[in-house]
Amino acid sequence: MFPRTLGLIFWMAVAAITGYWMNPTTGPVLGAFFVCLFTVIKDLWKGQKIAKWLRHNNVQDPPEMGGIWGDLIDRMRRILNEQRKQTQNEQQRLQDFLLAIQASPNGVVLLDPEGRIEWCNQTAAQHLGMDAKRDLMQHVVHLVRDPVFKKYLTSDGHEGEVVIDGRSASLQKTVKLSVQLHSYGESRQLLLTRDVTAVAHADAMRRDFVANVSHEIRTPLTVMSGFIETLQSLQLDAEERDKYLGLMAVQAERMQDLVNDLLILSQLEGSTLPSTNDPVSLDGLMAGIESEARGLSMAQLRSGEEPQILHFESSPGVQLLGASKELHSAVANLVNNAVRYTPAGGLISALWTLLPDQRIQFSVVDTGPGIASEHLPRLTERFYRVDRSRSRESGGTGLGLAITKHVMQRHGGELKIESELGKGSRFILIFPASRVSTQAH
Ligand code: ADP
Repeated sequence: MFPRTLGLIFWMAVAAITGYWMNPTTGPVLGAFFVCLFTVIKDLWKGQKIAKWLRHNNVQDPPEMGGIWGDLIDRMRRILNEQRKQTQNEQQRLQDFLLAIQASPNGVVLLDPEGRIEWCNQTAAQHLGMDAKRDLMQHVVHLVRDPVFKKYLTSDGHEGEVVIDGRSASLQKTVKLSVQLHSYGESRQLLLTRDVTAVAHADAMRRDFVANVSHEIRTPLTVMSGFIETLQSLQLDAEERDKYLGLMAVQAERMQDLVNDLLILSQLEGSTLPSTNDPVSLDGLMAGIESEARGLSMAQLRSGEEPQILHFESSPGVQLLGASKELHSAVANLVNNAVRYTPAGGLISALWTLLPDQRIQFSVVDTGPGIASEHLPRLTERFYRVDRSRSRESGGTGLGLAITKHVMQRHGGELKIESELGKGSRFILIFPASRVSTQAH
């Protein structure tokens, strides 16, 4: 500033002296005036050039100027550059933030004070059946018409959460959503959605399970307490007494079987996966299962009936790597079922086959009543029975196949069921090659 002022005074002095030389009366004033005018016009022209540069917002290409104007342009360019970088950084952060919310497994919707959708992520759009772009600024109640949600939205304080049906729910597929509202900023609201289908399903299953267990235990208990009352109130002879005590023993055994199977299931759920370092000899396993099955077959044989024909075949020298108790339950459940459901004189054949890809397969085939195809997918559900009275009569708990399936999952194997009504059944277990050892130990 100082050199520029000095420069202006110098040129005014030069012009005044030149003017005096040309006309001593008006020359100095006119000379100084013209210098001032020239300086003002030059500055106006430069100012306009700078204004044009700023208008076009081309920070990278500033007009070339020296002196105070050049200095000014340089400072402005630096400020503008910094602002631009800051804006870019903020935009990047906003983008990252939105991408993070997009990646969230939960739905997020931002509502304005009138309840209109300002922004929502894809998950929320999918949960609530909205279009993340098209439905912006739509009122949320026009899109989510569930009365429970409407009531929750209009309630004071939006306490807790509500569970509503998701938009992709259908008769075959239920989708349950947990919805929560939180206030933020100036009367804005954050709507969070979470898919709780699995939790709701697990909850329903737990409730069903408790109801089923209670029912299964109550039935033998009721029968037993009836017998106890009879024994207490009636004078019975020794023979009748023995008969009642025998019937009570059957009910007690039923409860015991049920509790045993429940314990097996809870152990399967709570324990770590079976190791692959414990070899279980198929010969040993099958010897135990065969004698159990033959005993069961004899026990259920009534006088005059033809005995069942049982055929067992092991795979000599083969060992399964896994938990021996679990493997015993899985296989024994299938063999015992075949014995229990096959009528007298029927054929039951159980055999192990080493498959070419080193997996091993166990199959038990019977000539029993067979199972209609609609029941097959549900057989491994807990307490699912095709014929309740037949199952109970033969001492079934309704948990056998559930246990077998669970054991197979824990050993990386699978359970397959093939059956046709009236033509018998075939239950197959397939163990992966990693659970098979053919070396002698
Ligand atoms: P349960 O203790 O009732 O036998 P399971 O889970 O072992 O329970 O079997 C479930 C149902 O599958 C049985 O109730 C029965 O109806 C059917 N089932 C199982 N094995 C056979 C079979 N070999 N033949 C016919 N039905 C069978």
